[in-house]
Amino acid sequence: MDFISTRGAGPVGIEDAIMSGTATDGGLYVPSKLPNHKVEDFSLNDPIHVFASRFLSPFFHRSYLEPHLEAICEESFNFPLPLTDLNTEQGQLSLLELFHGPTLAFKDIGARFLAATMSRIISKNQISEPTTIIVATSGDTGAAVASAFHQRSGTRVVVLFPEGRVSERQQHQLTCWGDNIISLAVKGEFDDCQRLAKELFSDRQLVERYNLCSANSINVGRLLPQSVYYAYSSFMNFCSDACVSNYIVPTGNLGNGFACAWAKQMGFPIGELVLSTNFNQTIPDYLDSGLWEPRKSIKTLASAMDVGDPSNMERLRFLWGEAEDLRSRIKSYSVNDSEIREQIMSEFNQSGVIICPHTATGVYTYRNNIPNKDKRDKHWVVVATAHASKFNEIIDPMIGERPNTPDQLMRLLELPSEFEVIDPSINEILDRF
Ligand SMILES: *Cc1c(COP(=O)(O)O)cnc(C)c1O
Repeated sequence: MDFISTRGAGPVGIEDAIMSGTATDGGLYVPSKLPNHKVEDFSLNDPIHVFASRFLSPFFHRSYLEPHLEAICEESFNFPLPLTDLNTEQGQLSLLELFHGPTLAFKDIGARFLAATMSRIISKNQISEPTTIIVATSGDTGAAVASAFHQRSGTRVVVLFPEGRVSERQQHQLTCWGDNIISLAVKGEFDDCQRLAKELFSDRQLVERYNLCSANSINVGRLLPQSVYYAYSSFMNFCSDACVSNYIVPTGNLGNGFACAWAKQMGFPIGELVLSTNFNQTIPDYLDSGLWEPRKSIKTLASAMDVGDPSNMERLRFLWGEAEDLRSRIKSYSVNDSEIREQIMSEFNQSGVIICPHTATGVYTYRNNIPNKDKRDKHWVVVATAHASKFNEIIDPMIGERPNTPDQLMRLLELPSEFEVIDPSINEILDRF
């Protein structure tokens, strides 16, 4: 399958789309034509990695990676993605738990798929210099990418995170790897990390000399596998209850929510798509006013969603059009910090379930913005994007109790942490290569 840019460039094959991240014209790669799937072609007896491989196969048709797709899916979908019930008075509400991977956030799925595809492309190309993956992170992305690429031959990862601005546990997950992972704490904010990454990529000579690649959330290699869990969970609900699933997705850069739009467009039984944001309201404001007004991000309790200029909106507008058209297809609500707090406490008090601050925006939206009639008539799924134990500094004091820490996090916390603090300049980064 060919991939084209949202701004017209291309076509390129899937390998180029994955390795280059952004298109040459500054747009984002999308498939030239989305496949039309039929639910009859899938089976509930298949484990998710088999489902994933069937779902994704049209995108890999006739590419070098095609014969590897099953193995790639086996490496990426190797932990459970359960649907669990959440307490509700009317109707049906499920949580789609995407936080059982190695670093306890949904980003593990995309990062693992990206690493599995990139490492195969790199070994085919037999490049002697290692490929250097640059990742600027405000917390979860860097950990997922570091974990996914750790000890993969021919690659090294440079993680740039803002010094003193990630949680203690997040920092540990960014700095505990060693081997081919270089962790750098940048004196500055997340925006400084992102600016440094952009500066590196804008220098052609550096890109060639170090085989620089990006692992950020606009890479199609991260988006495509994210569509799988929407297709899969809607298919499971369809088989068990003959119902269409309606999703509420906690949203920052819109990678996760957009993947749901793709799954729906490809023919899966998906009804409404509701995007919950934190106090960064660029998306709900756009749907209200019709004006796209990106802005600086605001710090909130749901920090992985602190995005003022959600990049994947460009893909959503390419797929479904501008605000007037989008209004009939998506809804979006903003949730502030005190509402996040309130929701975490009330879910805990009512049913003992501990949700993370990001997931709390989705649950708040379900409880407060979905009309009662729609709650009764429709099956809702809130996407749970991270495990609460990643954010223990926020949650413990709120509920007076510590969420249980899963084994995979316990093991990482026991490893020594290693990183260097650098000034925000690209020479400081290059000195560490
Ligand atoms: C990244 C992240 C989000 C936001 O996802 P986007 O794809 O950027 O919209 C939400 N929750 C958690 C826990 C995350 O790590």
